Amino acid sequence: MAAYDPNNIFGKILRGEMPSLKVFEDDAAFAFMDIMPRADGHTLVIPKAPCRNLLDIKPADLSALMPRVQHVGQAVFKAMKADGLTLQQFNEQAGGQVVFHLHFHLLPRWAGVQLRPPGQMADRALLEQQAEKIRAALA
Ligand code: AMP
Repeated sequence: MAAYDPNNIFGKILRGEMPSLKVFEDDAAFAFMDIMPRADGHTLVIPKAPCRNLLDIKPADLSALMPRVQHVGQAVFKAMKADGLTLQQFNEQAGGQVVFHLHFHLLPRWAGVQLRPPGQMADRALLEQQAEKIRAALA
């Protein structure tokens, strides 16, 4: 497996070199809105520790990350008044991964509503509204 490349998009977001709609940050994790959401409220949670994916993250960093995934997931579920929540995480290109900094997708779900296809940019104002609701649920 390739080594972690700090110049990936999420590494740049973590360092503030690229913009994001942040909803949560602490010493171990950072969460922000996915710009091509497959569901309303689609949020990504990433570790601050440098790692490509689940296959190379240090166990201690993973142990720190997962309670943050739960914490943000609970807020996303509540803020979006969802009926359910799908957690997705992809590893390496053959496993569906596109950005090579570990990330967990939090996808709010509603009964009878399918996920949208990937690759569709969201309206920025709508994303900002959803981010604000999630921030409020986290406050
Ligand atoms: P994957 O690596 O397959 O888990 O997918 C990467 C995810 O990152 C996709 O859902 C993209 O929509 C999302 N994405 C890519 N660039 C950005 C960005 N600059 N800000 C927020 N989300 C992004």
